[in-house]
Amino acid sequence: MVRLNANEAPWPADGSAVDGLNRYPEIRPLQLHTRLAAHYTVEPGMVLATRGSSEAIDLLVRAFCRAGIDNIIVSPPTFSMYRVYADIQGARTITAPLLADSDFGLDVALILDKCTPQTKLVFVCSPNNPTGGLVPLSAIRQLASARADRSLIVVDEAYAEYSEAPSAATLLPEYENIAVLRTLSKAHSLAGLRCGTVLASERLIRLLNRILAPYALATPVIDCVLRSLAADNLRRSREAVGLVLEERERMSGELLECPDIVRVWPSRTNFLLVQFRNLASVEPRLSDAGILVRHFGHEPALRNCARISIGKPRENDLLLAVLGRTLERT
Ligand code: PMP
Repeated sequence: MVRLNANEAPWPADGSAVDGLNRYPEIRPLQLHTRLAAHYTVEPGMVLATRGSSEAIDLLVRAFCRAGIDNIIVSPPTFSMYRVYADIQGARTITAPLLADSDFGLDVALILDKCTPQTKLVFVCSPNNPTGGLVPLSAIRQLASARADRSLIVVDEAYAEYSEAPSAATLLPEYENIAVLRTLSKAHSLAGLRCGTVLASERLIRLLNRILAPYALATPVIDCVLRSLAADNLRRSREAVGLVLEERERMSGELLECPDIVRVWPSRTNFLLVQFRNLASVEPRLSDAGILVRHFGHEPALRNCARISIGKPRENDLLLAVLGRTLERT
């Protein structure tokens, strides 16, 4: 083809690391979508790749919520970006807190109770960030049935690969009002690449397609995702997930032995939610050792709690040593 239709430069930039960057990528990369659909076992028309799953949250809020009129429901403590994007859009966020007394389980009855005629999106994070628990598919079914034709149930599965549980994507053929969010940022070790995927009915994907920016994914991103989904690389990322799961089990046992720690919640993710006797008294030791963990000062249900990502075994050992557990490694 003689490409004189897109006002591109005819020559590649000097010194560009990747071929073909003088040309725009595909508006919607077909091979990438086909590959993602196969990876997540849905039909090709049921996927849309976005710049991280964060962008998918933004798209959904913009597609469904009218400013000043509509609302979303979230179940805190949970991922903060649902509310951030709702705020930007001018949509109200209604909260239906998780059940703090039952390992932060989802309160389906409360969510349904709080729904109004203007509730367009119900966000369910499973496994949940930062509490680590999985929401059973029966709860998702219950929400989707109760809100059929009224609200979209958005199931955020950013940590699904660590949960060893079936995806809510298996419910898509049955329920038009479910959308599932996946990401390559966690188990695929590609947070810097920015690639997430929405899995939903073809009708919903067509709608989101209309508001996603053209050329959303850059050429090197598309190439890199296709490589990461090759069989060899998928095997390697599954092995890495296996190591994280081993470390997670080791760490949850070891952390419970630490004198400063009173509770470690069960986790189906690559992090642990931990409650300290007095987090403020531990912080100086952590910061002296250069260890960053996530705090939740603003969240009453998480007083003295920290979310600790599972790192490399040596990093995890360092944390344990700082918390007074010395380990003998052979
Ligand atoms: N959902 C949840 C629950 C998350 O924890 C995160 C990242 N922390 C995201 C979505 C966003 O991930 P990304 O935009 O990198 O795909």
